Amino acid sequence: MTDVTTDIICPFLIDSGLSRGQAVRLQKTLDTIISQHNYPEPIGILIAQSALLTALLASVIKFDSVFTLQIQGSGPVSMLAVDMTADGKMRGYSRFDEKAVAEAYEKIRKENAAPIPTFFKEGTLSFHVETKDQSYQGITALEQPTLADCVLAYFKQSEQIDTALKIEVAPPDESGKGWIGAALMLQRLPFDKKIAESFQENEIADLWETASVLLHSATKKEMLDDELSLEKLLYRLYHSNNLHFFIQRAIQFGCRCSKDKVIRVLKSFSEQERQEMVVDGKIKVDCQFCGKSYTLSLEDLTTGE
Ligand SMILES: [Zn+2]
Repeated sequence: MTDVTTDIICPFLIDSGLSRGQAVRLQKTLDTIISQHNYPEPIGILIAQSALLTALLASVIKFDSVFTLQIQGSGPVSMLAVDMTADGKMRGYSRFDEKAVAEAYEKIRKENAAPIPTFFKEGTLSFHVETKDQSYQGITALEQPTLADCVLAYFKQSEQIDTALKIEVAPPDESGKGWIGAALMLQRLPFDKKIAESFQENEIADLWETASVLLHSATKKEMLDDELSLEKLLYRLYHSNNLHFFIQRAIQFGCRCSKDKVIRVLKSFSEQERQEMVVDGKIKVDCQFCGKSYTLSLEDLTTGE
């Protein structure tokens, strides 16, 4: 087994395949995304939670391109997006009103206000993935107190899949450790006659209940302990549930921006829109994900046409 304990996703099965799960822990990836934008703590927390959810949801769906999770709201935070490629390159950004976010965060901490309606007011959480032959999309209203609850509501209403989910995130502390976050998700697999044959009907329901309770018994300390591997954590929870691991996959920060892509976007604008962006004969564009700056001349936009 590897001694890598963060920035990986660890898929597993329990109860002879009645349920499948994913455990993910992110550290460096979160630090890079949050610090390169210099985001305040509350946006860091939302980005971290969204990044963990992206890793979990992306690993449930088979895809070969990009998985995108996007939250849109009408409150202090208007937009938040995280995406991940099939080979584990993740990036994210957010648009928000800094003063309103600080006030919302104060309200959440002092008055115990529900985070999602306080940060986003009304809005949606959506995700989509495009593969070579099809695209998959899910959308749910932001009608729950937390992001995890929104995702649970989506699986219950739209997919009718029993799901248990736990997310923990911690901002940097005095010890010099950066951002860290971890999430556990468990889903009951569709009824399989062959697997079900070896159980009694009420036993299957009981096993799901137990597995879900065990998931929630993981403590924040255990989940965010970067000296405890995800396998060891899962073994603590599910050692008597016929636990089976799949190959772990690494996740890291990665942006896919390039001069060519910026040119392609600018070419889609009208001549007038482009002219309005010109300063001293140049158009300067910053990548919203990684902050990289691209300076282009109008000739750059006319070549190759
Ligand atoms: Zn970029």
